[in-house]
Amino acid sequence: MIAVYLLFSTEFWVWYAMGAIGLILIFVTAFGAFNINANWFVKSINRGEKKGIALTFDDGPDPKFTPEILKILDDHRIVGTFFVIGKKVESYPEILKEIEKRGHIIGNHSFSHSPTIPFFSKTKLEADITHCTNIIKTLTGRHTKLFRPPFGVTNPRYAKVMKSLDLLSIGWNVRSFDTILKDPKQLFSRIKNRLKDGSILLFHDTQEVTLQTLPKMIRYCEQEGIKILPLDQLINKPLYEKE
Ligand SMILES: [Zn+2]
Repeated sequence: MIAVYLLFSTEFWVWYAMGAIGLILIFVTAFGAFNINANWFVKSINRGEKKGIALTFDDGPDPKFTPEILKILDDHRIVGTFFVIGKKVESYPEILKEIEKRGHIIGNHSFSHSPTIPFFSKTKLEADITHCTNIIKTLTGRHTKLFRPPFGVTNPRYAKVMKSLDLLSIGWNVRSFDTILKDPKQLFSRIKNRLKDGSILLFHDTQEVTLQTLPKMIRYCEQEGIKILPLDQLINKPLYEKE
């Protein structure tokens, strides 16, 4: 009887609605789930000022795809930027060294890339990011200033950590959706329709479809006279700390 009363009473629905709103507020505040382009909490660089575009690759190094992508970029004399995950670098240190040796740019994409990273305390977040910076530095001698937040999610703790570690948060303004779209034709047309001067493109060097689409995309840029620039040139910022 009490359950039936609760279900149909007006008070129950009022409490239910208030509870739902409360939960949504807690979720939004705790998660800080705002798109990187919104620049709500962290001022990210999401586009360049110059004519041309830049290619960025997240979530590697990957033993299957990163070397193939490096080959494509090198064949076209293009400098790409790789936002690497520290724990993957630990597994594949030679691939990171290869990225550096071939003159590509290395950025930090956290050590853990944990799904719960948006909930990390400031101390834990700072330790995670620093761990990745140190691994990159040990292997390549480079102290990278570039950081890309996992999942493009930021919150006020990121803002503090970016400042204390003197990092530049790098976003994108063309998301390829290469982790979702599996058809190279679809992926190419999505990118093509969004390209403009200053575009920073987000890819993942963990996907077959990226590998399949990249040569066609590069050829298209060459035909259209769209210059593919190194990220530092496009955004006109230094990449590495001077030691
Ligand atoms: Zn990622």
